[in-house]
Amino acid sequence: MPKASPLILLVDDENMMRTQIRRFLEKGSYQIIEATNGEEGIEACIRFQPDIVLLDGMMPVMDGFECCAHLQALPGSDHTPVLMITGLDDQISVDRAFAAGATDYITKPIHWAVLRQRVRRLIQQSQLLKQLETATKMFQRLATVDALTQLANRMMLDAHLDQEWRRMMRHGETLSLILCDVDLFKRYNDAEGYGHRAGDACLRQVANAIGAVAKRPGDLAARYGGEEFAVILPSTPIDGAVKVAEMIRSSVHALQIKHPNSSVSPYVTLSLGVTSGIPDRTLNFLPETLITAADKALYEAKAKGRDRLCIHLLS
Ligand code: GH3
Ligand code: MG
Ligand code: MG
Repeated sequence: MPKASPLILLVDDENMMRTQIRRFLEKGSYQIIEATNGEEGIEACIRFQPDIVLLDGMMPVMDGFECCAHLQALPGSDHTPVLMITGLDDQISVDRAFAAGATDYITKPIHWAVLRQRVRRLIQQSQLLKQLETATKMFQRLATVDALTQLANRMMLDAHLDQEWRRMMRHGETLSLILCDVDLFKRYNDAEGYGHRAGDACLRQVANAIGAVAKRPGDLAARYGGEEFAVILPSTPIDGAVKVAEMIRSSVHALQIKHPNSSVSPYVTLSLGVTSGIPDRTLNFLPETLITAADKALYEAKAKGRDRLCIHLLS
């Protein structure tokens, strides 16, 4: 699909001026919409999401400076450049324009070649900024989300655990952690006709089930690595954490993912280690301590026959 030409919103109370600017800019490949005062300009900006706003300084109802300040506050208009065009070129007006958030400033009478270059450059710059923002969001997502399961990744888990550990310490509240590990998952991948792809699909299903259970604000379900998952439960005492762990275990059962090579069940099952404690600054209880404790509980669940949860309390 061909890319639409950039949209310019032209806000000026003078008919003649608007016509002149429109005629000039229409020679380039731009679409132009007009407004005759600041209020109309804001409405048009919300409605049409232009690529640039050309804004006259002196207008009735709402002048360009006030309009410019309002435009900055509109959601989603962060990168919409505002080029102020005004007869006022005294120092105070220039300062006011930039203080109101104008991206650039030109004076009347208009130097047409300058207008053309400024418009072209400002649109180009804002498009680059938008691309950069999209790329940054994508990188942030890649850095925090596990690509296979779409749960939080290990880095996010560590950051969240640290943050909640400090918050729980400040409030003297209990922080709980659940580690879940798919039982005999190597055998699942190795099963006849299954393989790694089936294994991946299974991990996605299990991750969905875990994510659906840990849904309070502050809860975080993450992929700890391989076929292991972790769930952080702030302000949750051990009995609450055990309930969540049981819910996870039973919702994975309910998926009834066939596991022909399992010696535990005909379906995919989890072993879970649950731990809880009130964080303090002593070396006895750091974020890592919580992981080690949950790991011990998980190991015990494996040793006792899998498809179950064990508890290891810290305090
Ligand atoms: P246990 O019940 O003791 O946990 O047995 P297990 O086979 O699950 O444990 P082990 O640690 O021996 O093997 C884990 C296996 O999980 C190894 C690998 O085949 C599989 N696995 C780990 N990550 C992935 C992954 O991203 N995709 C797939 N398909 N398999 C994975
Ligand atoms: Mg494992
Ligand atoms: Mg395993």
